[in-house]
Order: sequence, then structure tokens, then C-alpha cells
Amino acid sequence: MTEERAGGAPRRVTVVEVGPRDGLQNEPARVPTAVKVAFVEALAAAGLPTVETTSFVNPAAVPQLADADAVVRAVRRRPGVRYPALVPNPRGLERALAAGVPAIALFTAATEAFAQANVRGSIEETFARFGPVVARARAEGLWVRGYVSVAFGCPYEGAVAPAAVLGVARRLLDLGCAEVALADTIGAATPEAVDALLDVALAHLPVDRLALHFHDTRGRAIANVAAGLARGITVFDGAAGGLGGCPFAPGAPGNLATEELVAFLDRQGIETGVDRAAVIDAVAGLRAGMAGAGTG
Ligand code: MG
Repeated sequence: MTEERAGGAPRRVTVVEVGPRDGLQNEPARVPTAVKVAFVEALAAAGLPTVETTSFVNPAAVPQLADADAVVRAVRRRPGVRYPALVPNPRGLERALAAGVPAIALFTAATEAFAQANVRGSIEETFARFGPVVARARAEGLWVRGYVSVAFGCPYEGAVAPAAVLGVARRLLDLGCAEVALADTIGAATPEAVDALLDVALAHLPVDRLALHFHDTRGRAIANVAAGLARGITVFDGAAGGLGGCPFAPGAPGNLATEELVAFLDRQGIETGVDRAAVIDAVAGLRAGMAGAGTG
């Protein structure tokens, strides 16, 4: 069966690789720093134009990424590839700048309950933290991405109104984010929900500054990507190997696997510049490195 390319779909899509951060932060195993560095380098070599490298969150909260400084310093950067690191607050930004990060990502949520549980503050408080972070980052010439978690459903509040997502996304763009990713943190999205959210979002925000971040928890991630493509979205996130699982649905898949996303886009005749086989090899290298360290 062939999949028809939707009428409005773009000819070229940017795949943002989030596995080394969003994937590894949710893996129970500790991964040696050198294995993480090799993974990031292999993903960039596979043609991924953005590789989210790590996170400068409190190491006590996310011990899996406690070596963020060492990873950033060790990665040999390829020209033309963007390497953001997640930064939660001014202290994280100081660590990130000291390590020499070239780009950062910020994280807030579409619901108050998720913000309280995951970033330990109200949505308003996250923006109070972000103001000085973005100002400093931009003064340093860094590229800034924002994330809106639980944009399609919240484990605490249930359904999320598109207007709430729009409000948070707009504030992130107004603050100085170059791009905002609308994230389906619990895999609740459906193609209909993608359409409903984009109806609202695209009436107010530029399509080229929005990205979609899907989880395959219920097996709908690719159908949701197709819905986004049909609306002209050109940036989609993936995590190589589908790393990370879903903390809200134990045993279920988490992040959409980059190699599945690329395979789908290849079948649609949409260019990504990504070598799917090389992504699969990067995951195999990671798994071998984890096993070799006795952590796999
Ligand atoms: Mg994710």
C-alpha cells in the first residue's frame, strides 16, 4: 500500500533529533560519557541537522544527564549542525555557557498541573525564569528553542484546550525563541486533535516557527505527523531508537523513533537529508556501548 502525499505537504522537512536528551533522560541505565558523545556524533554524521545533545537540569533530579558539561565539551561539532542543550533556569544557563553550548532549549507546559509536577512552578513562574535566560542566551548569540509539554493531553488535567497551548507558544516566541515545539508528552494526540490545535495555532503563529514532537504511545505518531505535514509544518522531532519510553505509560513506546519518521518521510518523497541506515547504526552503537559498560 502506498501512502499518498497530502496536498499541502512540504517537499523538505527538518528532523530534529532529541534522543541524546529526551531519550537518555528517561532510560534507567547510566550511559558512559564517551558512549553518549559517540552517539551524538554518529547522529550528526547520519545527516540530522539538529541534535539535542543533553540537558543542564539539576543533576540530582536527572542523574542520567549529570555529565552534560563533559558531553558538550567532548562532542566534535560538524559544520552546519545545530547542537542545543536543554536549560531550565539561569543556573543551568551558566553551566551551559561555561561548557560552550551553541544553542539552548527551554521547557514549559500547557497545563498548570504538569508545570508544577515537572518544572516545579506555575506556568507564570517558568516565564519569570526564562526572561533572563533568553535575554542572556541571545546576547551570547545562542539559538533558542521552546517546548510546550502536554500540548495534546495532560496526565493530570486530561484534555488541553488549543487556546491554552497557543497562549504558551506565543509567549515563548515573543520571549525570543526561534522555534516552538508542541509536544505530545503522553502520546494522546490524534490526527483530529492535531488539526484542531493547528487550526488555532496557525491563525496566530507563523507555520515556519512551529515544530511537532510526537510520542508513539498509542501507535498514532506517524498519522499525527501526516496531519501536521498536511498543514504545512516542516519541523518534526524524533528520538533515534525510540529511546526513552513513556514515564506515564510504563512499557509503552515514548518518543517517535527517528528511523520510523525518516522512513515515512522517505516513502512520501519528502527530503530530510537523513540516512536512515546510519541512524539505525548509531542506535546499535549506543546499545553496544551500554552493554559494554555493563549498563545495558
Ligand atoms: Mg519526548
